[in-house]
Amino acid sequence: MKNIFKNFLIFFLIFAAIMTAFSLFDNSGEDIENISIAKLVQEINNEEVQSITVKGNELDILLKNESKQASKKEINEPLGEVLKNYNVPADKVNNLDISIGDEPNSGILLTVLPFIIPALFIIGLIWFMMRQVQGVNSKAMTFGQSGAKIADQKIKTTFKDVAGAKEAKEDLEEIVEFLKHPQKFITMGAKIPKGVLLLGSPGTGKTLLARATSGEAKVPFFHISGSEFVEMFVGVGASRVRDLFKKAKKASPCIIFIDEIDAVGRQRGAGLGGSHDEREQTLNQILVEMDGFDNQTNVIVLAATNRPDVLDPALLRPGRFDRQVVIDLPDIKDREAILKIHAQKKPLDKDVDLKIVAQRTPGFSGADLANLLNEAAIMSARDNKKTINNLAVLDSIERVLLGRERKSHILSDEEKKITAYHEAGHALIAHVLPKADPVHKVSIISRGRAAGYTINLPKEDKKMTAYSDFIASMAVLLGGYAAEKTFFGEVTTGASNDLQRATATARKMVTQFGMDEKLGPRTFGQKDEMPFLGKEIHERRDYSEKTAQTIDEEISNYVDNALKTAEKTIKDNKDKMEKIVAVLIDKETIEKDEFNKLLA
Ligand code: ADP
Ligand code: MG
Ligand code: ZN
Repeated sequence: MKNIFKNFLIFFLIFAAIMTAFSLFDNSGEDIENISIAKLVQEINNEEVQSITVKGNELDILLKNESKQASKKEINEPLGEVLKNYNVPADKVNNLDISIGDEPNSGILLTVLPFIIPALFIIGLIWFMMRQVQGVNSKAMTFGQSGAKIADQKIKTTFKDVAGAKEAKEDLEEIVEFLKHPQKFITMGAKIPKGVLLLGSPGTGKTLLARATSGEAKVPFFHISGSEFVEMFVGVGASRVRDLFKKAKKASPCIIFIDEIDAVGRQRGAGLGGSHDEREQTLNQILVEMDGFDNQTNVIVLAATNRPDVLDPALLRPGRFDRQVVIDLPDIKDREAILKIHAQKKPLDKDVDLKIVAQRTPGFSGADLANLLNEAAIMSARDNKKTINNLAVLDSIERVLLGRERKSHILSDEEKKITAYHEAGHALIAHVLPKADPVHKVSIISRGRAAGYTINLPKEDKKMTAYSDFIASMAVLLGGYAAEKTFFGEVTTGASNDLQRATATARKMVTQFGMDEKLGPRTFGQKDEMPFLGKEIHERRDYSEKTAQTIDEEISNYVDNALKTAEKTIKDNKDKMEKIVAVLIDKETIEKDEFNKLLA
């Protein structure tokens, strides 16, 4: 805005400068005497004049003695008339060599300039004011416009920037082909897909991949988020969709990317209140636009969601988003690759082993990993370090996992002791039970909301969890509770979160995974979701009252058995418990290797 005004000013100044130059130029040259008409008449009468050149209202006079003079007459009166009015004899006039020259440039400019300058000024002012008004009201003025952002062409994202996700990249490679060489497919009689749905948990790189696809195909990328369609006023969403597709068709070949499409693409007719009307209209419009593509429209719609289960089936029909690309959470190899990409511009110490970081971060998404390295960089910069060392990286794993350390959260000696026994309980059971995930770290430093924490991680990434894994992990969860009960005779509030997680595990085993012998291989309960809260707000019961009672009993059984296992393990290993507690109280934290040595 300011820039435009400045440009305008500069333009104006240059213009004025040129004008002045012109007029100066025109007046420069030899010294020309300006004379009056009367003087001219006198000279003519004396036969001193050789020729007169008329340029508009100016007269250039050449005398017989070769000197030059200038004079002016009225614009609309021909020179002949003027001389006649001055009673110059006709023969004297005939002897004169009168010619008509071009009107002088500066003359015109100088006459017009006084009109142009104020006009320009006023136009400029009005234009400037309009811009300002628009700035204030721009929201209102662009209401029905899509607001889609075209990605910056300079920052090219390509598949190289996306680590792992091999299958997803292969699928999208095909889309790149379609965009680059559509004719190849059309001559085969193939229909080019219109829509591709990217499915994956948050932070797995869906947005990144969509961007990379456009970067690979070197086509424009229209980016809009599903929630941008949902406005306060009905009909805005639909008109934004129309606008977006219109723009995209003009820019074809290109990619439209609708992020978080579940915001508009939820099942129609399932909403409460009035707001679903708007969403339905928007969704319908998207479907209509996509159906309107013919084979020559080289526009491909990519959409991303982490909730494919709530999408309207109409979206997934052939000819719409019939291609689906699933992006999984990265496995250990991919995690290392992602870490490598994000470590590129960061000065990591040599002792940082990204492989170990990858090992310690099962379940982390690409975004979590990027965040982890960023946290480490921030922490190192804050401590005025030159490089990022191993400690900073490992510490930020826990920061991302559990929240930051709360050194100010000081426990009393008694609380410290209880926490030490509690965490030692978890750690001991994780160590002793063969099916439990091994211990990576035990600490009684408070982090986030936990007073202490024990990190135990699977040896390798697991895609499936078996019955015995659940049983072992419940025992580990109850280890803290069992330790408090065994050593202090009572429990504290510190075990509450452990109990919740153990109960939830037991419930899932019984109601979702069919792992309970008494209840058999079936599921219990159907989850209904409220469309726009996106949460399960109630569970539909599809079983009898009697079964409900059995479910409760079975859940209690699992938790009780886990507690028994934990208590027995602790009683059998009291010496080991004491060892762990002593080190914890002394050092507050035990790392994996030290822990294993301690219990060997
Ligand atoms: P989503 O859209 O799936 O929620 P994003 O694409 O926004 O996730 O990813 C967030 C960030 O996480 C990206 O900007 C990138 O820095 C990082 N990231 C995620 N996945 C990867 C990956 N496979 N390779 C490299 N970086 C990744
Ligand atoms: Mg995203
Ligand atoms: Zn605990």
